[in-house]
Amino acid sequence: MVETSLIFVESKIALSFAAFFFVCWFFNFNGEKIFMNTSTQTTYSIKTFTSPSPLESLVGNTPLLPLRRIFSDIHPGVQIFAKAEWFNPGGSIKDRPALAILRRALTDGSLGLDGLPFPGRRLLDSTSGNMGIAYATFGAALGVPVTLAVPANASPERIAILRSLGADLILTDPSEGSDGAIRFVRELALCDPEGYWYANQYDNPANWQSHYNTTGPEIYTQTASQVTHFIAGLGTSGTLTGAGRFFKAQNPDIQLVAVQPDGPFHGLEGLKHMPSAIQPGIFDPALPDRTLAIDTEQAHKMVRSLARQEGLFVGISSGAAAWAAYQLALELTNGVVVTIFPDAGYKYLSDKNLWNNPK
Ligand code: PMP
Repeated sequence: MVETSLIFVESKIALSFAAFFFVCWFFNFNGEKIFMNTSTQTTYSIKTFTSPSPLESLVGNTPLLPLRRIFSDIHPGVQIFAKAEWFNPGGSIKDRPALAILRRALTDGSLGLDGLPFPGRRLLDSTSGNMGIAYATFGAALGVPVTLAVPANASPERIAILRSLGADLILTDPSEGSDGAIRFVRELALCDPEGYWYANQYDNPANWQSHYNTTGPEIYTQTASQVTHFIAGLGTSGTLTGAGRFFKAQNPDIQLVAVQPDGPFHGLEGLKHMPSAIQPGIFDPALPDRTLAIDTEQAHKMVRSLARQEGLFVGISSGAAAWAAYQLALELTNGVVVTIFPDAGYKYLSDKNLWNNPK
């Protein structure tokens, strides 16, 4: 935050006049309103937090790719497309909800102190990786400090990326998975409400609304409103809920298909087995027309095929989505099937089960 360090000398002068106040504000020599936390001597310009980061304009408008070679045995009247979400600046679809959650919190004062528009509290959430990377990316770009509870068995690549972006990490019991991280942050937020603002991606409506406002409309435009089936993996369910509600509002005949692991113990990072997990508050079980259960091995095999036959180096949940799209497409004689590829394969390189297989 160059802006903040440049005005630090001025703020020191003002500090002597404001020593008895926890927070004060004044104008700098450019006439700009500056806020100061007098206990930490940190100064903030309102512009620092309200003006968009250049990264924000890069979120969304991702390509929609036709999958041609890999599914050559489907009926010629059926097309399958995948939305390439690793084109987002943080590398995954989770940039969309993370940015929406952060922006709303900055606007409504959730992150502020005594209603002031700068972060007096740290953003806190539980995540198995991508949402954390997105929070850390935009947190760094907007000057919002971020603390994340991550299951200790998250891939080493994810943990290294989160640390590189400056997030504070609390590693939770791996045997309790993402639900253990959720329970941990709920308690921490209750214990220290002044220190943390619990962003709560699982219950925060800004999550699904980001997909209602961006992912859904983009796909509708990219398919010239011809999309007939939409397939998405369930993590928080934000993608399926938001884009799905948008599609149903345009045309109730568009079929929504949810994808989840076939059991509680699985290797589909980012996805949840809903019957055995803590149900996200934003999940609407009545919304999908159908739910497909995917086996980890099938998803792994599909990830390898996508890399080797389509040149698409994607993550494991993309493999699950592609497998589900293929199963569905085999039943159809015409239609435009769209699925989501949430991230790229880089974060899964250390997964030996995934790559050390010739087939
Ligand atoms: N795939 C990956 C790799 C993810 O990180 C996530 C988010 N947990 C999802 C799929 C599911 O997205 P959503 O949270 O919107 O259901």
